[in-house]
Amino acid sequence: MDRFHPHALARLYVGAMITAGSGIFVVTVASPSSYIAGAGVVVSLLLAAAVAIGEIAPVKMAPDHGEVAPSTTFAFALLMTGGVGAAVLAQVIGSVIADIRDRKPPSRMAFNAAQYAIALWLSARVLSAFPHVGHPAHFTAAQLPGLLLAGSVFFLFNAGVVALAVALHTQTTLRSQLTSGLTFHAGTEAILLGLAPLAVLAVDYSPVVLPLVVLPLVAINRAGREAVLNERLALQDSLTGLPNRVLFRDRATIALAAAERNGTSVSLMLVDLDRFKEINDTLGHHVGDEVLRRVGEQLRDALREADTVARLGGDEFAIVVEGSAEEALHVAAKLREALVQPMDLVGVPLLIDASIGIATAPEDGTDVETLMQRADVAMYQAKGSDERVRGYARDRDDNTLARLAMAAKLRAAIDAREVGVHYQPQLDPRTGRMVGVEALARWQPDGSDPVSPADFIPVAEQTGLIVPLTMYVLETVVRELGGWRAAGIDVTASVNLSARALSHGDLTADLAVICTRWHVPPSALVMEITESLVADDPHTMVPIIQRLADLGTTISIDDFGTGYSSLEYLKLLPVGELKIDRAFVSGMSTDPRDAAIVQSTVELGHRLGLRVVAEGVADATARAQLALVDCDVVQGFLFSQAVPAAAIPGLYAGISPDVVRRSA
Ligand code: C2E
Ligand code: CA
Ligand code: CA
Repeated sequence: MDRFHPHALARLYVGAMITAGSGIFVVTVASPSSYIAGAGVVVSLLLAAAVAIGEIAPVKMAPDHGEVAPSTTFAFALLMTGGVGAAVLAQVIGSVIADIRDRKPPSRMAFNAAQYAIALWLSARVLSAFPHVGHPAHFTAAQLPGLLLAGSVFFLFNAGVVALAVALHTQTTLRSQLTSGLTFHAGTEAILLGLAPLAVLAVDYSPVVLPLVVLPLVAINRAGREAVLNERLALQDSLTGLPNRVLFRDRATIALAAAERNGTSVSLMLVDLDRFKEINDTLGHHVGDEVLRRVGEQLRDALREADTVARLGGDEFAIVVEGSAEEALHVAAKLREALVQPMDLVGVPLLIDASIGIATAPEDGTDVETLMQRADVAMYQAKGSDERVRGYARDRDDNTLARLAMAAKLRAAIDAREVGVHYQPQLDPRTGRMVGVEALARWQPDGSDPVSPADFIPVAEQTGLIVPLTMYVLETVVRELGGWRAAGIDVTASVNLSARALSHGDLTADLAVICTRWHVPPSALVMEITESLVADDPHTMVPIIQRLADLGTTISIDDFGTGYSSLEYLKLLPVGELKIDRAFVSGMSTDPRDAAIVQSTVELGHRLGLRVVAEGVADATARAQLALVDCDVVQGFLFSQAVPAAAIPGLYAGISPDVVRRSA
């Protein structure tokens, strides 16, 4: 309570306190009955000096926890030995000196002095109701209740005065101020008051030992510092020194409450670095950590003092900005500008970028939980957008909700075996024989239209359902394949594998078990993966893919030529097959550039010793061109769509190019 609010009520309160305090001061100090007769002058002077020193040199606890003035101990001791007059006089002088040194305004100075005068006077009234207090050398148990009560009155009065002042000043409730202040101060205050009788005994024994009474205070101070340090560690991210998730929640909650009171807006922002994992993986954790530290600093520097920036973990930061959605968008743009400056850590400039999602109270929600969840939604939308900054928008989230609803249905469908597998034939263009099939998942919910895998596979991927789905597909495919092979149908089966399905558990071990169960050699299986799957996390993926190859399956690069492909993966991975993306294949009969790309890719594959598959062959011209450039395998609607397993034997027996156009 360093400043008093000019609010009339607060002023009235201060005035009343000062008036009452001055009255009491004058009466107590001037009245001879306020001094205990026979009190040692030296003892009283010593204690008075201790009061003043204690007041002038308080023991600092921590920035947020105020300070502890040991003067309380000595003032109480003086109250017991020298009388209320001496105690009030010493305490008021000490307080005024300290306030002058701290350049407190006169009103504040007078208020503090008045508070002390009244508190001590009240305590003295309580003490005087009990006999025999004031003869220090002869403490008896009978005096304890009086001391206890007087101490409690002293503490409660001070706490009440401070709480009321703060409540008036900040316009909060007295109760909230009392409960927050009381618990912390009660402990230290009790110790200070409890030391008073010891101070009396000490000074009575020998004035030289009086300073020793201060030692416990030093102990309190040290323990307090320690506690504050621990508290800070528990609330701080050790890497960046920024507030952590716990403190962020706290700050956000406070900001939201204030905004609600004042009818203003608060925005919560989630900042997620793009491709941080790549930096971490390629340049090492040292560099990764340094990047996070720098990003933390940059965010801190780009924000106003009042805004909170915290690190939630990993490469995710969160920010509380006092302001509307529009202002927050502005701030976010500024933050990105600061972040995209190339960072020079390892000799090469690192380009950092971030995606930022924003949710604003009150329109997007009024509690931290809801706002964080919505900022998260906005952040994911920002990641997929060009501007990389998004405010939360409900209609876009509805889209997310629709996906969540779809995920729930898909889960039930997998359990109910409503998801099935169809097979699209693959042919040798030279002989026209079926040499393989690609297994493609199909979902036909009861009584409604079939859902395209292009729609449900991404949802399955996002929700983790891809794992049971893939296991189900693998089991089904291998079982069918076992049946076909037993019937003399010599085909391979290709299965599509996503990143999450690959990296979950031990896929290779599971597949080995499945193959054994259905008597199918792994060499009859082709594992289709995409380059982007590898590019996103090569450290995890390459060993997994290597294990699948070691088992005997053929590794195929699906959708080759699209995505951020890198020819490096052809070297890095145990690849056996290239699957040219259907975008090039379907265009080759009309666009010479597509034809050139397809031809070159076939040549590239052959020079690397790979089998090359062209998928999406939809017209006879393309088929003829592919035969001409010696493509190994063709697949497409020209021959057949994906069909149920039962249709495969018939197709195998009778298939010839241009003949079969069965629909799924
Ligand atoms: P994909 O792996 O590229 O599969 C080939 C897709 O091309 C299939 O679509 C197939 O029906 C379609 N296609 C085949 N020939 C032609 C053609 O001549 N013209 C055209 N326009 N399209 C043709 P589908 O079955 O809708 O699958 C879409 C994607 O869903 C697949 O693309 C694959 O990435 C994914 N997918 C399907 N089943 C699974 C699965 O079991 N697991 C995983 N992870 N992904 C799957
Ligand atoms: Ca595929
Ligand atoms: Ca493909």
